[in-house]
Amino acid sequence: MNDKTPITIAYGDGVGPEIMEAALRVLEAAGAALAPEQIQIGKEVYERGFSAGIEPSAWESLRRTKLFLKAPIMTPQGGGFKSLNVTIRKTLGLYANVRPCAAYAPFVRTRHPLMNVVIIRENEEDLYAGIEHRQTDEVMQCLKLITRPGCERIIRYAFEYASRHHRSKVTCMTKDNIMKLTDGLFHGVFEEIAAQYPSIESEHMIVDIGAARLADSPERFDVLVLPNLYGDILSDVAAQIAGSVGLAPSSNIGEIGAMYEAIHGSAPDIAGRDLANPSGLLLSSVMMLVDIGQPKVAERVHNAWLKAVEDGFHTGDMSAEGMSARRVGTRDFARAVIERLGALPEKLNAAKYPATAPSGRVLPVKKWERRAPLRKDLIGVDVFLHWRQGGPSELGELLRRADSEALKLVMITNRGVKVWPDGLPETFCTDHWRCRFVHPRSGETITHRDIIGLLERIEEVGLDSIKTENLCNFDGKPGYALGQGQ
Ligand code: NAD
Repeated sequence: MNDKTPITIAYGDGVGPEIMEAALRVLEAAGAALAPEQIQIGKEVYERGFSAGIEPSAWESLRRTKLFLKAPIMTPQGGGFKSLNVTIRKTLGLYANVRPCAAYAPFVRTRHPLMNVVIIRENEEDLYAGIEHRQTDEVMQCLKLITRPGCERIIRYAFEYASRHHRSKVTCMTKDNIMKLTDGLFHGVFEEIAAQYPSIESEHMIVDIGAARLADSPERFDVLVLPNLYGDILSDVAAQIAGSVGLAPSSNIGEIGAMYEAIHGSAPDIAGRDLANPSGLLLSSVMMLVDIGQPKVAERVHNAWLKAVEDGFHTGDMSAEGMSARRVGTRDFARAVIERLGALPEKLNAAKYPATAPSGRVLPVKKWERRAPLRKDLIGVDVFLHWRQGGPSELGELLRRADSEALKLVMITNRGVKVWPDGLPETFCTDHWRCRFVHPRSGETITHRDIIGLLERIEEVGLDSIKTENLCNFDGKPGYALGQGQ
């Protein structure tokens, strides 16, 4: 039938086939207008020599349907294999990872019965760009990249999500007291965009205390928007404290496509034994139905699921003394949900999705527009050295021989702590030194040739430069951290 939405599905590894089968049975019984196309991913594909875990032909289906309902796969150990999740996320540009984490008390055991948070995690940037280098014997580096377009997209997505799902508050967490430029940009963009949504409360917290509060009293949070790394960690914490790992769904949203999956893995310890909880994948498909404009079916499935949970039909991971009327396997759990299609929960809040739910997988906002460039003045350079022959004062002496009219040494740091001039003898130093050179007259600019000349002189005095970072002012504001880390 033409009115069915084509979706790509993959049964995955471990418990994947069991939970996918259960989820598809419920969706079909609920009348979801879907036309699933199956692709192969995971173990079997890795074993056939495709290091990405997906065959080139499978992309054809994904690029056409732009919708992927995915069961978990195992990630092979050892080198040479790529993470399929990362590949799909980056290839399809799935920039927003949305993870609702709700408690179902008193039917599923949790210490936080009122918890109902949605974590919106930036999915493509931050330390996950995979740009890492060994710089010296003792020091490795991972580049943290935070971009203005990335921040604008994810933060606007979070406010749009809050507005469409009738949520009242968006909380942002960063560590911008330390990372003033990268996390500072995320926080700054959050404040800019929050001001455009005056009816939604907004707040910012430093991520360490924010994480502690989330773990202690999650009921005080509503929607959270986080950079990639903090979001990765905190969404697992939130899912865990809400109930069972088998319950939590997720969506990965991009401008051209979306992927829906349970947050748990392939659970090889219980695979093939009819023990797995299909709820994470089933609730992920509810998120998909809402996004593709089938909110009534989404409601039917979600409410039947809530009623089954209320009636005490629990898989082993959810089951607890006094709460589970019947401990059931994957198939019987799906049957219990199907039998309750059309019913509403009596104690838990019934799911209600607006009939006109707009598609959440298409960027709900205006396209990002590049701004006019700022005035950029090159005023100095940080040169990083690999050196182990002495301490800061010897290095300072050597480097002063490399000074020129345009560039003079003003500071040496080791692991971000200033060690020259006026360092403390107690400071532990590695073999990795950051040496800052600037024009001696404040406000004067330098050229790239000045930097090349400096690097040549540094080589002449026998030092090993491993990288440089230009120091620029943007419209007169320093585009680099001024002092030492805290
Ligand atoms: P896991 O989530 O598979 O299992 C952790 C624990 O939770 C196990 O005890 C398991 O039995 C239980 N569990 C998980 N899902 C359950 C469910 N639906 N019902 C009942 N219990 C459930 O994590 P793991 O053991 O660390 O990883 C196993 C494999 O899955 C690894 O190869 C890992 O790389 C992969 N993985 C894949 C994805 C994905 O495809 N999105 C995500 C995470 C892990």
